[in-house]
This record gives sequence, structure tokens and C-alpha cells, in this order.
Amino acid sequence: MAGTAPATLVTGGNRGIGAALVERLAPRGPTIATARALPKDKAHGGAEWLALDVTDAAAFETLAHRLDGRPVGLLVCNAGVFVDRHENLADGFAPQLWADTFAVNVTAVFQTVQALLPSLQAAASVAGHARVAVISSQMGSSERAHGSSYIYRASKAAATNLAMNLARDLEGLGIAVAAYHPGWVRTDMGGPSAAISVEESAAGLVAQFEALTLETTGRFLTWDGHVMPF
Ligand code: NDP
Repeated sequence: MAGTAPATLVTGGNRGIGAALVERLAPRGPTIATARALPKDKAHGGAEWLALDVTDAAAFETLAHRLDGRPVGLLVCNAGVFVDRHENLADGFAPQLWADTFAVNVTAVFQTVQALLPSLQAAASVAGHARVAVISSQMGSSERAHGSSYIYRASKAAATNLAMNLARDLEGLGIAVAAYHPGWVRTDMGGPSAAISVEESAAGLVAQFEALTLETTGRFLTWDGHVMPF
């Protein structure tokens, strides 16, 4: 177990925005990255790696057991999928796609927070507060309902809603929660034409995480600090 300073934990830390977050956060303190396939180098990116397929309910029990109440001051729920980009309204959007997407983008966010509650509370008692960052998307904003990608949009709307309700319930435990749009980012998901690099996104997001306190809990913000409409 790394030192006594509360750790940061990032889900889906193996590629894309998650990997850039791990790279940026690891030099600042103990950082735990989770991934379904662990890197061969156990200290890859300066992080400690734990196996977690966020669709595997039993894996959350294992994760909680491994952490054993170790203080986690920042939890970043980053793992996500976007599988309905090319579906069409007439005969696409099969029920299994809904189930698979909600399992990762919504249910797993809840299960990750639930599994880490003892660790977040431990950090809050040491440091005064702990933080949960839910990586959502502007595609889940109902004020920006541009149509298409119904499954991804609905899942991200649910993830943002979940973050807002957790913010209310966890405030009294000293845990601040916010949802973030990471920008349109050049990753496997965002594609090569996206507006910003993973480094720009991660730099902005980490600055937003650092500004998250019990006074600012319950917000939906962009990577560069703008308020996102729900
Ligand atoms: P990527 O597709 O590049 O990476 C997705 C990450 O999620 C990978 O680490 C992947 O792991 C992980 N993941 C997916 N399913 C599971 C699972 N069942 N268990 C564990 N990990 C899983 O996406 P981005 O980095 O672009 O996206 C990161 C987050 O940002 C997502 O929540 C996404 O919705 C959100 N976002 C991204 C935007 C963009 O423009 N890129 C815009 C708005 C929001 P594996 O390698 O094992 O598949």
C-alpha cells in the first residue's frame, strides 16, 4: 500500500482521457488506475493498477476488498462506451445496446461510488472532504438535444442526474460530487477530428477537480470551467 496520503482512483485508466488523467495525476500523489486489461508494466504511467471490468458486479466487491477502506480523496468515474453512433431510427438501437451502454455509463458509476464509499469517507475524515468526478457528456444535456445517438445521450443524461443526486446525499459525509463534459477529445471515442487533445482535456479536468469543494458540489461543468446546461 502506498503512503498515507489519500489516493486518486481513475476508472478506464488504460487509454483515452483516462490514461491522460492518470499521467497528469500520478506525479501529484498516489494514483490507482483501473482497467479491464491490466498493462504488463505494473507501474505503467506511475500508477498502481487494479483490474476492474465495470460491468462485472463481483469485481466491485473485489475492488472494495482490495482497497479495504484505504483513503481515496478523488474518484474519477471515467470508463464509458458509445456504441450507437451509427444506428438508425427505423430498425436500430436494439435493446441489448441500451443494456450494455447503461451498464457501463450509469450502473457502473453508481457501483463504483458505492464500492468506494468507505475509502471516500476515510479521505474526508483525514482531509476535510473527498471528491467524486463523473465524466459525463454535453451529449446528455437536454437543452442540447440535437437528436440521434439516443442511447449514449440518455445514458449520459442519467449519469449527470446520478451525480447531482449523489451530491445531495454525500454532502453530509464530506464528499463533493460533480459531473463534467471533457470536451470533444481526440480519442478512440472522439475520433481524429475532435477539437482538443487528451492532454488539454486532462489538464482542464484536473483543474476543475481541484476546484471542487463542498461549496461547489452538485455542478455540471465543462473541462474548461463553463457551466453546462442540464
Ligand atoms: P475511449 O473509448 O478512448 O476509452 C474508454 C475507456 O473506458 C477505456 O479505458 C475503456 O477500457 C473503458 N471501458 C469501457 N468499457 C469498460 C468496462 N466494461 N470496464 C472497464 N473499463 C471500460 O473513450 P474516451 O477516453 O474518449 O472517453 C472517456 C470518457 O469521456 C467516457 O465516459 C466518455 O463517454 C466521455 N466523453 C468523451 C468524449 C470525447 O470526445 N472523447 C466527449 C464526451 C464525453 P477498454 O480499453 O478495456 O475498452
